[in-house]
Amino acid sequence: MAKIQAIRGMNDILPEQTPVWQYVERSVREVLGQYGYQEIRMPVVEQTELFKRSIGEVTDIVEKEMYTFDDRNGDSLTLRPEGTAGCVRAAEEHGLLFNQTRRLWYMGPMFRHERPQKGRYRQFHQIGVECFGMAGPDVDAELLVLTARLWKALGLYGHARLEINSIGTSESRKVYRAALVEYLSLFKDELDEDSKRRLETNPLRILDSKDPGTRKILEGAPGLGDYLDDESRDHFDQLRAMLDAAGIAYTVNPALVRGLDYYGKTVFEWITDSLGAQGTICAGGRYDGLVEQLGGKPTVAVGFAMGLERLILLLETLGLVPGHVHNRADVYVTAMGDTAVAPAMALAESLRDQLPGRTVVSHCGGGSFKSQMKKADRSGASYAVILGENEVAQGTAGLKPLRSDDPQQEVSQQDLAGTLAELL
Ligand code: ATP
Ligand code: MG
Repeated sequence: MAKIQAIRGMNDILPEQTPVWQYVERSVREVLGQYGYQEIRMPVVEQTELFKRSIGEVTDIVEKEMYTFDDRNGDSLTLRPEGTAGCVRAAEEHGLLFNQTRRLWYMGPMFRHERPQKGRYRQFHQIGVECFGMAGPDVDAELLVLTARLWKALGLYGHARLEINSIGTSESRKVYRAALVEYLSLFKDELDEDSKRRLETNPLRILDSKDPGTRKILEGAPGLGDYLDDESRDHFDQLRAMLDAAGIAYTVNPALVRGLDYYGKTVFEWITDSLGAQGTICAGGRYDGLVEQLGGKPTVAVGFAMGLERLILLLETLGLVPGHVHNRADVYVTAMGDTAVAPAMALAESLRDQLPGRTVVSHCGGGSFKSQMKKADRSGASYAVILGENEVAQGTAGLKPLRSDDPQQEVSQQDLAGTLAELL
């Protein structure tokens, strides 16, 4: 019978890889903790309507990337393609927003039906951060300072550049959109197919077209920056001053618009050149209108999401995963012969009592001296503890270094933990 395989674009994260994931997750948790952010956990499925109303009907995500299905009651549900909408829904539903400020984060799988390739999958993982009730730009700057701290913790600072832009309020974007459409319509026949379509539906997205012909036309297009309302411009100038004061390098990219409808004012991306086309490792912006748009009281907000697969790919590509991350065994306890099995298990337990934080692996399943020592070696342990009939009778254990040529020593079982504590 044919074997059933995983769904295309949905990856298993195997035991060799989970230590790196845990390392990144731990680092993010630590940094977010330093800034007083609180974790929130939402379901992975929401009503389809939530994403349509927030992300926008004419966005890539809603038009062609969502996993949408009818459940048994006939309700239309969707596997979340991103976390902001669900986070706003949850925070509003539980009264976390009214008259309060909140700094929230979450982590988990997201689902988008895209063409799988390096750095782009159908199930991928994001760590998202959302701040509510703070109009900025101080909190916008905080988010960027915080991400910079995370890159430093991971050794990535300098390997990703920060691009920022202001896309103004929805009113100022409306005026700009009209000017852009007027200009691009002059070149309608020369635009790429996607951009032609977007001219009708979502013209701002044309700004981040990768098509060389379209890019050429865009060189002469009116700039969003010239249409900014005073408040957005002032907000952006202040943000830039704060980043300068914090020593965070950035470039202003006037073409950065982000693909989701709910953004306004500040938008930003951290981009690396080391991952090819899938170079954005973290992206976000301000979305002051979304809470109200979803039926809540007007609440300003700003947030970002980073893609964990890309972050990990980048760490691996640059060789920045520290060796200690791969949590290997410290001690491997063997049992030579049936009579040694129970005493070996008891000895391993007492080592775990006395050496908290160390990994003590017990050999299970019997086998010859040679095969047990082979497994000991493969576990990555620094020391093998060898327990046979004689050692059991004498209350001793063989202690064999596995990573050096030092000779094996015979240690009394009582002294074993102390000896290991010194050696490890
Ligand atoms: P892209 O332009 O690469 O499609 P996006 O603008 O759709 O990205 P966002 O919705 O802003 O991405 O999501 C934030 C981050 O999540 C991205 O910067 C990226 O790191 C990650 N991400 C988005 N889509 C995927 C995917 N299909 N596979 C892996 N990571 C992804
Ligand atoms: Mg995308």
